[in-house]
Amino acid sequence: MKALFLAGEWQEGRGPAGRSFFPADGSLNTEFSTASTEDVAEAISKANQAWQLPGWRNSLPMERARVLYRVADLIERDASRLAALQTRDNGKPLSETRGLVMSAAATARYTAASLETLDAELTNPRSRDLLTMSVYEPLGVVAAITPWNSPIASEMQKLAPALAAGNSVVLKPAELTSLAALELAKLFEEAGLPKGLLSVLPGKGSVVGDAMVKHPLVKKISFTGGTATGRQLAHIAAERLIGTSLELGGKSPTIVLDDADVDIAVNGVIYGIFSSAGQACIAGSRLFVHASLYDSFVQRLVEKAAQLRVGHPEHEGTQIGPLIDEKHLQSVDAYVQQAVAEGGEVLLGGQRLEQGELAKGSYYAPTIIAGLSNQANVCQEEIFGPVLVVILFENDEQLLVEANDSVYGLAAGIWTENYRRAWQLARALDVGTVWINTYKKFSISTPFGGFKESGVGREKGRLSILSYMQQKSIYIGLSDKPDPWCDV
Ligand code: ADP
Repeated sequence: MKALFLAGEWQEGRGPAGRSFFPADGSLNTEFSTASTEDVAEAISKANQAWQLPGWRNSLPMERARVLYRVADLIERDASRLAALQTRDNGKPLSETRGLVMSAAATARYTAASLETLDAELTNPRSRDLLTMSVYEPLGVVAAITPWNSPIASEMQKLAPALAAGNSVVLKPAELTSLAALELAKLFEEAGLPKGLLSVLPGKGSVVGDAMVKHPLVKKISFTGGTATGRQLAHIAAERLIGTSLELGGKSPTIVLDDADVDIAVNGVIYGIFSSAGQACIAGSRLFVHASLYDSFVQRLVEKAAQLRVGHPEHEGTQIGPLIDEKHLQSVDAYVQQAVAEGGEVLLGGQRLEQGELAKGSYYAPTIIAGLSNQANVCQEEIFGPVLVVILFENDEQLLVEANDSVYGLAAGIWTENYRRAWQLARALDVGTVWINTYKKFSISTPFGGFKESGVGREKGRLSILSYMQQKSIYIGLSDKPDPWCDV
């Protein structure tokens, strides 16, 4: 049984054993220890002692950065092993898990560099005899909670800035994918992160996660996951008056205008929805196509998507692996059945795949559905699977109303040769990220987060460290008579 990492010690958790299964065939990868609520309390209490020690929070930025640079190097050293482990744990093809591993290394390195260039701000004083400045202080213990779809990358997006800022972190990875986070803890340990600053506590959200966010010593909740859970955590944070960073769900529109380069757009739309088997909060799951090219575009789209290579995630060349588990497959399939009941026409897929070795895993066919309005349930709810709904639009006004008609506001894609038009649309879409003639591309220097019910706060970017700090303004009086009542 794999141990958990509690304040620098590898030990058995006091919760029930957790299990990691390979989604390609349902076989057991390993058993791992999960935390009890007592473990949570112990980890948080030790984290609270650790962050207050001057050794970390008052260390030179260069010294904290050094740990992150080392972690980045160690991740790269172990990249193949980490990617293989992740593929076993969550079923993503190796090509994708390699990308996630490299993204984690890049995040650590970028955050280290940002930390080294982060300065206090001298503000322009309103009075000749005053010097004012703002410095940044850490918050304390951060509770980080992550989902199963992009482990290691999403975990590093929280760990790197939170630790760089001088905090300590208690991390709870998703029940289904805890292995990468435990490996990451080993690398932080090897890189010399002082004891107590990091705990990785696998376990159930409703037990371990809940105990973490309700603990009085936790000063920030950094969460990535579903909107329903995010809302619950926001209530708890509001009650406790602590900050949150919430990266939640999406139902992102991708828009093909009448002047789009069709071949490029077809490929981009397919990648946007079907990579990761659609198990991505940013999946481009609602496709709006202009009436003038609707028929030909949709025909090309279906032909091209039919050629996608669905297969074993450990085989080179596989583009789409299995869904995370059988329960999730049933939920995706239920949405497709609902679409059909609502009058949708399945143009491609619409069922699980069971040929040959696929029968052993939770594979679902890339699915394209047409004939529904944006009001249909499958156009409004996040499916988190390889299901694309295609909607025809006649003009930009109608398009904007419908594209924005969603509780979510995470991302959008626009395919056009006219950048002026793309710019106008990009500004008018109520979403946190817009991709123009590309989709699902990321840059660590570019902030990411959602509008509306897709989230609160931003991750990534040069200033992500500041979201784990609080500003303190300091006034220094330089006058001989520092205040009006002074009569010296
Ligand atoms: P997903 O749809 O990605 O499974 P969830 O929101 O259910 O989204 O899960 C994301 C993360 O939140 C997981 O690590 C899960 O264990 C955790 N989680 C779920 N419910 C709670 C809760 N009530 N309190 C804290 N964490 C939770």
